Amino acid sequence: MLKYYPQYCQAAIFATIILLIIYFMKQNYSTKQGKVFVLLMVDCLISSALNILTFYTISFPERYPMWLNYLSNQVYLLLFNLMAVLFLYYVDVMTKRPRMLIPVRVAMVGILLADSVLLFSSPYTHLTIYFDENLVYSHGPLMITLYLTAFLAISMAAGICAVSWKQFNAYQVFAVVGFVGGVFVSLIFQVMHPAYVISNLTCALMLFFLYSSFENPAYYTYNYTRCFNRRAFLLTIHKYKKKGSPYEIVAVKMADFDNLVSSFGQDNAYLISSKVADRLNLAFKKRAYCISMNCFAIICDSVDQSGDYVERVRDCFTDAFQVEKETEVLKVAVDAVIKLIPIDAQDIDGLEMEEILHTVMDSTSDDVFVAEDIEQLVKDVHRKRQIGRIVGDAIKNNRFEVYYQPIYNTKEQKFTSSEALIRLKDQEFGFISPEEFIPIAERSGQIDAIGEIVFRKVCEFMKSSDCLALGVRYIEVNLSPVQCRKMEISETFYDMMKEYEIRPEWINLEITETAEMEPASVLRLTDIMNQMHNKGITFSIDDFGSGFAAIDYLVKLPVELVKIDKGILWQAMEDPIAMIVLKNTIEMIKTIDRKIVVEGVETEEMADILISSGCDYLQGYLYSKPVPAEQYLEFLKQHHM
Ligand code: C2E
Ligand code: CA
Ligand code: CA
Repeated sequence: MLKYYPQYCQAAIFATIILLIIYFMKQNYSTKQGKVFVLLMVDCLISSALNILTFYTISFPERYPMWLNYLSNQVYLLLFNLMAVLFLYYVDVMTKRPRMLIPVRVAMVGILLADSVLLFSSPYTHLTIYFDENLVYSHGPLMITLYLTAFLAISMAAGICAVSWKQFNAYQVFAVVGFVGGVFVSLIFQVMHPAYVISNLTCALMLFFLYSSFENPAYYTYNYTRCFNRRAFLLTIHKYKKKGSPYEIVAVKMADFDNLVSSFGQDNAYLISSKVADRLNLAFKKRAYCISMNCFAIICDSVDQSGDYVERVRDCFTDAFQVEKETEVLKVAVDAVIKLIPIDAQDIDGLEMEEILHTVMDSTSDDVFVAEDIEQLVKDVHRKRQIGRIVGDAIKNNRFEVYYQPIYNTKEQKFTSSEALIRLKDQEFGFISPEEFIPIAERSGQIDAIGEIVFRKVCEFMKSSDCLALGVRYIEVNLSPVQCRKMEISETFYDMMKEYEIRPEWINLEITETAEMEPASVLRLTDIMNQMHNKGITFSIDDFGSGFAAIDYLVKLPVELVKIDKGILWQAMEDPIAMIVLKNTIEMIKTIDRKIVVEGVETEEMADILISSGCDYLQGYLYSKPVPAEQYLEFLKQHHM
């Protein structure tokens, strides 16, 4: 008879209890996956406890009734294998592979059924476990089948993880490999050394692994505040969609967050944000979702309590927030912008809802805003997503075109440059304006690829055409500030210019001023621009006058050209005061020795005014609309002197 060592099982029980305590103390976002994980822990605990019971039934079978001897062993072994099956289910729920649904369910039921039949028939068949005539506990010829079914479940789980590995981060991949490897090794060890019942302990330890990687509350928590994160938000919306029940999103934005950061420092601003989160969590008795550092969303089951919700949010902001600045304690008052989005059982998924939330957050500056026309919002979001797809497709299949709009040099009275403008045509949607798809691409990150495509096409055009001979000195290419997140951009552009033998001074990059740039991004932008500038590329500020940070850009960034926004010109043609502003702006730019381009020149009258004010370059429909490369060359030939 074998001698067993129960210490491993005691350790397993101990470990699992600790894990259960940690799990329930650190309240986490509740998911189906989390529930399966709890089942796994409970199963591990019970099977370890039963395992200890089996030590006694095996060692002293004569003390207990025979049915108990059998039952404790049967249930223990079944629960042990159930762990493998539950793990398979866990992986299935976690990776959500609909096509695996049926094979996984069949395997789960099959394994449990086969194990049960083998175990519960064994007192008669002696196929797996039995007590012989001397009451000695023994293994039958099909005992190995029990191990094999566990192997099968774990292997399937490993297979699903392997095909879904892209969903995981590095640590999660490590955890899955660790879990599966650990269980495999311990099962093999178990087969070879039945006396050392280490499998339960291994499972308990592996559960810690899973906990720290997949069940970690940090996975669903926003870094700085005690709120749920975007992942949790998407899941919650998904649950509502599945249930088809109405809900309301109370979206709260801290007003003037940029000012908070610049006046009190980033640390203090983040601290205030986390205090806002605490107050909201308390007021609504549930955890809010952090959408960004200064935006929160609370999802409520009941619709039509708007008044009450607004009051509750207001209460959270009435008391000032305390922060410390250089040993001084300051009281900071913060205003709330509240947006209510009632959703009446609409078919909206998480990503769409996120987009709606952003749209609503960015729209209207009203203190309190109720989004009523959800259908329109959904339509807009659908269109945005479709356009995102079309853009992705166009990137893959090289379906973008670049048009050129000639720019008139007023001093030399000829066309010495042009602006490259991207064009996208879709079979279904027709012509899609860059005004529409560029912002979408900036959000999705597709802008990097688009920027490279345009730049390459411009290089190609300059190399293969005789535009230089026709008097063109440089071509203006639009550069989105979003593209300047990555320092590599200057290398990429430089390499392309080398490839096509394009001189840096043949390119001028137009950079748009945006109000929403964080200080760190402005620094990076300055770095990148200086880097490129040192290599000989020139820059201009685009849309000057339409935003806020213009003057700041003019002072800090290495720009040679300033392009005045067409809106400013058009307004000046309507309104004498706006004309004074325009003329003074032109004077100011001339004083600091920058060249001036004005876009949107549509009439002779506009051109006359601008030329007499001393503008260097004019661009607009008066001369030409943006046209395809061939047509542009034709235009140059006609106007070349
Ligand atoms: P933008 O850089 O301000 O470009 C000038 C826009 O004004 C162009 O619109 C041009 O067609 C239009 N325009 C020029 N003269 C006139 C005129 O006399 N009358 C009128 N009504 N319009 C005129 P487009 O091509 O639709 O481009 C819109 C915006 O899309 C651009 O504004 C730019 O911000 C962005 N964009 C276009 N191509 C690119 C690109 O390759 N990269 C990036 N990042 N953005 C681009
Ligand atoms: Ca431009
Ligand atoms: Ca413009």
